[in-house]
Amino acid sequence: MKFKKFAHKALALVLATVVATSAAACGKQADTQSEAGKTVDAAATAWKENALQMPQEGDHFRTYYEVFVYSYCDSDGDGIGDINGLRSKLDYIQDMGYTGIWLMPVMPSPSYHKYDTTDYLNIDSAYGTLDDFKAFLADCHERNIEVIIDFVMNHSSSEHPWFKEAYKYMQSLGKDEEPDASKCPYVDYYNFTKSQEGGYSEVSGTDWYYEAQFWYGMPDLNWDSEAVKNEFKDIAKFWLDLGVDGFRLDAVIYFYFGNHEKSIEVLKWFNDYVKSVKPSAYIVCEGWTDQNTYAKYYDSGVDSMFDFAFADQGGVIAKVLKGTAPAGSYGAMSEKAQELYASHNENAIDAPFYTNHDMARSAGFYPGDLGEARVKMAQALNLLMTGNVFVYYGEELGMKGSGKDENKRAPMYWSKDANAQGMCKGPQGMDSFEMKFDSYEEQSKADDSIYNYVKSAILLRNQNEIIRKGKVQNLSDLSTDYVDVIKKTYNDEEIVILLNVAEEAQTVDATSLNINGKTVENAEVAGELLTGDETVTIEKNTITLPAFSILVLK
Ligand code: CA
Repeated sequence: MKFKKFAHKALALVLATVVATSAAACGKQADTQSEAGKTVDAAATAWKENALQMPQEGDHFRTYYEVFVYSYCDSDGDGIGDINGLRSKLDYIQDMGYTGIWLMPVMPSPSYHKYDTTDYLNIDSAYGTLDDFKAFLADCHERNIEVIIDFVMNHSSSEHPWFKEAYKYMQSLGKDEEPDASKCPYVDYYNFTKSQEGGYSEVSGTDWYYEAQFWYGMPDLNWDSEAVKNEFKDIAKFWLDLGVDGFRLDAVIYFYFGNHEKSIEVLKWFNDYVKSVKPSAYIVCEGWTDQNTYAKYYDSGVDSMFDFAFADQGGVIAKVLKGTAPAGSYGAMSEKAQELYASHNENAIDAPFYTNHDMARSAGFYPGDLGEARVKMAQALNLLMTGNVFVYYGEELGMKGSGKDENKRAPMYWSKDANAQGMCKGPQGMDSFEMKFDSYEEQSKADDSIYNYVKSAILLRNQNEIIRKGKVQNLSDLSTDYVDVIKKTYNDEEIVILLNVAEEAQTVDATSLNINGKTVENAEVAGELLTGDETVTIEKNTITLPAFSILVLK
């Protein structure tokens, strides 16, 4: 059968209903209309009318939005994004279809990025107040949007009162005197030693050093210390009591630098504690290392580890779109990841993401005229993954940003007018550069924009619990260098995702494909994500996928 679109909108809508309800009838209708010589495809948008299957409370298979508050939306005109600004954009966030927000650090900090905390029990004054935060949380929960906060327990700021006390005390010691925690309890919070190793900084004026793996301004906390554990119990409880839905844990492989086993023990202790306070809380961790190693962190019982194998320029998604890995490696890796994580924790929820605040943005990955199509497809490949998927703010607009970290955290591109309401000034030291694609103002009005494409991909995810939760089977017999075919199964239902990452149309002989007991021509179109004017056609069991397109059948 062939899906055709009609120039006449009302007629297209009628057909859309027919397509959604009866594939056989659709074939008839379409043939009739194709004789009328019309172009393009009604089914390409008919699926958008399908019912939503939104996640319920406590269900963490969601679509999360990673937000850098500093650069998102400014409510008071100081050029720095804030909680109230973000709160004013909840209509936008909900309309996009996001069902969760990960806030990059919001606690007081001397840095713009705020990964070095000076007070774990407050909101940075540039961002607002605890009351602002509570109001924001309430609004999110009203909209079925979960909120998790970045939780940086590997290190504090060197400006944190704990460290300042400890440092001052260490400087006061006599030449051969050893530190005594009964005199200054905070010396026990950090790792002081007389042997200088890599990742250690000196206590000025002494022969002591302290561990600071990232930077001297970020002293590593001592996880052997019961006092530190007790502090972080109180801190976690404080935020859970306030109503946050969980935490994004920063740098978990650094808890014990170079010792994964002991780092996992800390993680297990923390996860057990958090779940004892709030059983429905969600924990996702950053363990930026190889896949087999971060998979082991699932032993701790945490819900999710960020799935770095799919992310960044060297990840599976970008490789498939650059043509440096066959399309089938996407499905094969998805299947492998699922098995690997389940072998450590049967309740593991994969946390796929494509880019984040530490990585160059996708707009720069793909040069040439086809860059936009590849940016779109890459977003879809991320959003179609099973698990709890994360999207970095601005990626839905194809924002640009690479090189120094500041560039990767540029102001959300609401408008080309830097003085438009809500626009932020961005981190100090950010290079001045032009965006590659339009701002939200233009993209929201263009049907074929990256923004509208990503929104469609999220809609598809919100319509199909099976896309979020299905067990992945890569149909390698049907996959080629350019085409990947994946089946997902959940509650005895099946869905099939076919994708073409080639610059030309690709034909798939899907005779062997069976979807919920149906052949391809009798299957229902659950969604189509297109990047050009060409549409998908299905004739008998042959599917033709246009360049850079995705078809989902159920
Ligand atoms: Ca502000």
